[in-house]
Amino acid sequence: MKILKLPKEKLDLFASVVQQFGELHAPVEQDGRYVFKRLTRWSDARLEYDRTILPPKKYFLPPREALFRYRPGEGFVPNTDGLDQRIILFGVHACDVYAINILDRVFAGKYKDPYYQARRKNIAIIGIDCLPDKQCFCRSMRADFVDHGFDLFFYDTGDYYQALVGTALGDDMVLATGNLFEPVDAAEIDDYKRRSWNKRRAFQVDVEIRDLPEIFEMEYQSEIWDELGEKCLSCGSCSMVCPTCYCYDVADDVELGSRAGKRTRLWDSCLFASHALVGSGENFRGSRSSRIKYRFYHKQRGFVAEYGRPSCVGCGRCVSACPVHIDVVQVIDRLRRVEDVASR
Ligand code: SF4
Ligand code: SF4
Repeated sequence: MKILKLPKEKLDLFASVVQQFGELHAPVEQDGRYVFKRLTRWSDARLEYDRTILPPKKYFLPPREALFRYRPGEGFVPNTDGLDQRIILFGVHACDVYAINILDRVFAGKYKDPYYQARRKNIAIIGIDCLPDKQCFCRSMRADFVDHGFDLFFYDTGDYYQALVGTALGDDMVLATGNLFEPVDAAEIDDYKRRSWNKRRAFQVDVEIRDLPEIFEMEYQSEIWDELGEKCLSCGSCSMVCPTCYCYDVADDVELGSRAGKRTRLWDSCLFASHALVGSGENFRGSRSSRIKYRFYHKQRGFVAEYGRPSCVGCGRCVSACPVHIDVVQVIDRLRRVEDVASR
């Protein structure tokens, strides 16, 4: 992998040059929080943000999208609106890149989703390193560093950004800027190592995940699940903000008095009461405790069995979003019978 440096005062120039590769989107501030949005001017970008409300997942798997239209005599017409739009997502944190790599395994692996794949091909990712706050545990989830899934990745090392070039497209972006990027020297390599070390020490939350699937197996009947079921409101906020939750529903909107219509895909949540309701009226997860238990088991145990790692990346969004303060780290700590969680 090629490693270069970009002087900080040249970042604006770089941002203006890369717009030839697509529409520029980045985190912007909105009512004191951050959202990924199309930039109308580069000065709106906030690269030193904590976390966005919704993860970049919304670009690859939109909250609501029409899949196809149908009309008797015409058959099915796939909806391709926006699939070829070229976008540059600037300022994606490592955990969110990691989450996109997880979604790749689901939507571009064994069961290929053409809508997801088209967007993934046309959306470039420029990542940026960050420092953890009190809700981040991406290091525990091995998602504080990514080595693929981005086109460029920037590390703030003081006067420079050190840039990892991840793809040929990333290389093209560098080349398009002429001589803005420079080779790194030994002192800057030390700056990188120093930053990496400082970041490691900045984490306030630590979760041991090595034997977590086994712990979950042992604690299947734990009273914790009933307690959480009593507390949980089934609002689904935790799923909506999660960068790796990918449940969706499909619904047909049929035109009145006709057999024509469109099929839409929309985000769903395993916490919703209707999620496991089937046509006969049977609900396979009718209680709140069974639903919240399922969410934890799928993230920390089921996904490990299928893909070899948990599907949680430790971004902390569900902790921020939960109206009744259900905290994934505290739940894991309790399952491990660790008592030192009062300080969180
Ligand atoms: S479960 Fe929570 S902490 Fe883990 S990736 Fe999803 S939102 Fe982030
Ligand atoms: S955000 Fe909290 S209350 Fe809402 S469904 Fe998730 S765990 Fe339950």
